[in-house]
Amino acid sequence: MSQAIVCGVDYEDFLIRMEEFHGARSPGMLIGSMMLDVALKKLGPVPFLNVVCETIVCLPDAVQLLTPCTIGNGFLQVLDWGKFALTTYDRKALSGVRAWINHDRLANYTLVQEWFQRTGGPREKPPFEQLAKEILTARSQLISHVPVRLYRELKNSKPIPTGLCPQCGESYRIDLGAICPACQGDSYYQY
Ligand SMILES: [Zn+2]
Repeated sequence: MSQAIVCGVDYEDFLIRMEEFHGARSPGMLIGSMMLDVALKKLGPVPFLNVVCETIVCLPDAVQLLTPCTIGNGFLQVLDWGKFALTTYDRKALSGVRAWINHDRLANYTLVQEWFQRTGGPREKPPFEQLAKEILTARSQLISHVPVRLYRELKNSKPIPTGLCPQCGESYRIDLGAICPACQGDSYYQY
């Protein structure tokens, strides 16, 4: 298994990098890397690679670890839809490939199915190694993909208007209101 290549990275190296980046060995990142592999290969090399993830869990970290697209540079967009799916696309051409988990095929891979559909319950979670073995056996069989066209690029290319909040004096996005979101009552902290 040590020779298995995941998205161009040696499997054992990928596990180490995953633990460093994500803090744990993640079956979601392993499956995510395979979805990414399929979606990138089908897309082919493009000059303006962007990725959209349709869940906030695990998948965005696979993209950030294995591609130049990150949340911070704006080339990765994350939608909180709870769908284990992603789209790789060219930002200028708006052509891409969407990849997702094919639930019909999960039936042949019971550990993956239990883990994915959480039917085993938290205490019966199989060890990562067992799950990973099944994921590596199944590989692209778990993943469906289709070419897509995007309605628009998701990266925000316009400058964000900012100004000082008259209440707290900090800089914020002025299109969010006359005072900043924290001063409007959406604060998540208190002094
Ligand atoms: Zn404020």
